[in-house]
Parts: sequence; C-alpha cells; structure tokens
Amino acid sequence: MNLTALWIRHVAYPMMEKRKGNRIRTYLQELSQTEKLSNHELRRWQEDHLQKLLLHAITQVPAYKDQQALTDLITRDPFEALSQFPLLTKDRFKEDQEAYLAKTADKNACILNRTGGSTGKPMTFYMDRQTVEHYEAARFRGLSWSQIRIGDPCVMIWGSPIELSAQAQRKERFKERILKNRIVIPAFDLKKDELPHYIKRIESYHPRYIYGWASALALFASFMLEKNIRLSVPLHAVVNTGETLYPHQRELIEKAFACKVINEYGARDGGIIAYECPKGGLHTTVENAVYEVVDMQTLQPVAPGEKGLLVVTDLHNYVMPRIRYVLTDVVAFSPSSCACGRTLPLIEAIEGRENDTFVALDGSYINGQYFTNIARMILSIQQFQIIQKSRDQVELLIVPHEDFTEQDIEKFKEGIRLRMGDVKIDAKRVTAIAPAASGKLLVAMREFPLPR
Ligand SMILES: [Zn+2]
Repeated sequence: MNLTALWIRHVAYPMMEKRKGNRIRTYLQELSQTEKLSNHELRRWQEDHLQKLLLHAITQVPAYKDQQALTDLITRDPFEALSQFPLLTKDRFKEDQEAYLAKTADKNACILNRTGGSTGKPMTFYMDRQTVEHYEAARFRGLSWSQIRIGDPCVMIWGSPIELSAQAQRKERFKERILKNRIVIPAFDLKKDELPHYIKRIESYHPRYIYGWASALALFASFMLEKNIRLSVPLHAVVNTGETLYPHQRELIEKAFACKVINEYGARDGGIIAYECPKGGLHTTVENAVYEVVDMQTLQPVAPGEKGLLVVTDLHNYVMPRIRYVLTDVVAFSPSSCACGRTLPLIEAIEGRENDTFVALDGSYINGQYFTNIARMILSIQQFQIIQKSRDQVELLIVPHEDFTEQDIEKFKEGIRLRMGDVKIDAKRVTAIAPAASGKLLVAMREFPLPR
C-alpha cells in the first residue's frame, strides 16, 4: 500500500475540504452518477445549467448585454437561445477580454489563466475555483475508469523542464510529491545512455500510471524499444494529454510500456473535454460544458458526425462566461454508443489542431497526420517537421538516420505534392528539431490563417 496515496486520500483531501471548501470529491461523486444517465436525462441536466448560465450572462456580463432580448427564449428553450448567441473566436475574445468579466466577479478570488503565448498576444482569462474543481473532478472520473484513484502514484514524462529557480523547483517538487504523489521526468533532455537510470527511478516509485505528452511518451518509448528495456512494475495505464495522439504513437507506447494508452483530451481554455474509457470510447464531459462543432471555413454548424472546429460553452464558469467559444481543435462527434455502457457522447476523432491543417493549392484541407504517414514509409527519417509558409510554399526539416539519401528527400517531396499540388518545397537536413515555446514538438504547422 502506498503511504502517500493514503495520506492524500485520508488527510490532505479532507483537510482541503474542511479548510478551503474544496469540492473535487463531491463533484467526482456526482459525475460518477451522471455518466450512465439516458440521453434525454443528460440533455435535461445540461438544459437546466445552460439556462442559469445564459440568464446570468445577459444580466451580469457586459459583453452579452445585447443578448438581453433573448430572455424569453432562454426561459423557454435554452438550447435554441444558445444557437442565437454569436460564436466567440479567440481573436474576438482577445479584443476585449475584460468585457467578459461578470460585474459580480471578485478578481482577487479568481484564478487567472494564460494561454497561447507562442504566437501573437497571449490570452488571459479568469475562472473561479469551482470551475477548476469541476475540471479536476472530470479528470479523476476519467482516470477512475482505468482503476486509478485520487492520490495514486504517477510519473510524468514531460516535454521541457519547467523554468523555475532552484528554490521554486524544490517547492514545486515537494508539492508534486505530497499533494499529487507525482514525479517528473523531462523527456526531451533525455539521453539514451541515461535511460536505465530513469527506468530505475520509475520502477522505484511504483507508479500506478504514467502521464505525459504524446511526443514525449513516444520518444521515451522508442528509446526503451531500441535498447530493449522494459519496466518491471505493472502499470494500469499510460495517459496522453495535451497533444494529439497519433495511431503509430499509441502502438509504440503500448508496446514499450505493456499497457493501454488512455487519451485525455483537454484544453487550457476548455477544461477536460473528453476522456477515453478502457473500451476505447472518447467520452465527452457533457456535465461541464455544451459542445458544438462548426465548419472550419464557414463557422456554420456541421451535420452530426462531420468534422469541424469544437465550440465550447462552459457551464460552470460564472466569473467570466465564454459562450460558444471556438477552440482551434478539429474534431468529429460519433453517433455510436460505447461498449462500456457509459452514455456520455463520444468524440469520433481528434483530427489535430486547426494550425496543423494544411491548405492544398486546390483549396482542399490536409490533416497534419498525412505527412506523418509519408515519413513512416521512409525508414531513414528519424524525425521531421513540416511548415506551410504560404499557399504555395512549404519548409521541410529532416533529422536523418545515417542511411538517409537524396532519393529519400525526393520520395518525401513526391508524397507532399501528391496532395498539396505543385508547391515549392524547401527541404533541409538538421541535427535536431527544437520544441515550440510550450515545450511540445510540433510535426506540422501552418503559418497563415485559413481562408474564411
Ligand atoms: Zn466507453
């Protein structure tokens, strides 16, 4: 039995509940009851919460004062009323963020969140503590499906080490250990020779699960397979977060760690949106938000099952409501039900982010995964990155293995032109690909906005 886990469950959480009014476990309990409600009951549940939120927004939030004309409709049919609210894109939100702060909100009691620092102006927004606790509860519900409980030991295999002072690092490590029962291993700094050392560290911690970004997990897994090293401790799951998990990465990680990969789909500005169950269904957290999908180009709602940008209306954030907030993730909902018996609607696929969608010369869209598929056919490529600079210009960076040849570059270019048309391709051999400011390794990115 893990002592820290016991301490977290029997001392730390009860203390946080008593002293700070923390409600994560209460919300978790509620979520475990709602996950099997009928579709009709879930819809009613959302309707009640949506109605309260919209009435609050039109009376308390300056940005929504023009929607006061919808009061009657909100009372009669909240979903119909929601469809008449304008979509809120990130750009639109950034123009006047303060207008979305409720008049009743006490900024000092709010949690400030930042996102999108890598390109353009970073976005800041406020949340109340309850919203964050609802997100946490959703995460723990998802983990509970793989028999992982609050406080269970976890190893994070993370992108880049967080830049903190030595003292702040010690404090952070202490908090990680004592409140989250978690240690962090930085994957992109990892050298192959150090792998046995890290494996020992993981084994001595006896984690119930491993948590990390797909690219970091896949890199670690590929080292393990290459060196033929396996963990001697059994895991309940490896959880991917923060990045799209491609099928070949899933395969690699499951092989190296000898357990299932579970996808956690969340966004800093959207909470825990969906969690994968052991049957492979990616279940949405419909108790926390209303989700819609709109066409990437026209921003009009798509037919059920079709892919587009995910639109989120968080049902719990009363301090800064963002209604019909457009995320840059490309998803499709699935009409089917899951073998696990949970009724929470399923996301069919996360096709990546809007900015890894390329535009071909003929105007069609190409998912970033397409380029990964080409690269997988060319075994002499260790790593690559492709950047669409403009409609007719692409930059291709390749980290080659020793047996890489000019013909391999030509093969890659041919694959690119097959879908993109006769674009100019600037191919370069490099020794490494730098992670983005966020620490993530981006495989494909487009540097100009989609035509709308
Ligand atoms: Zn399921």
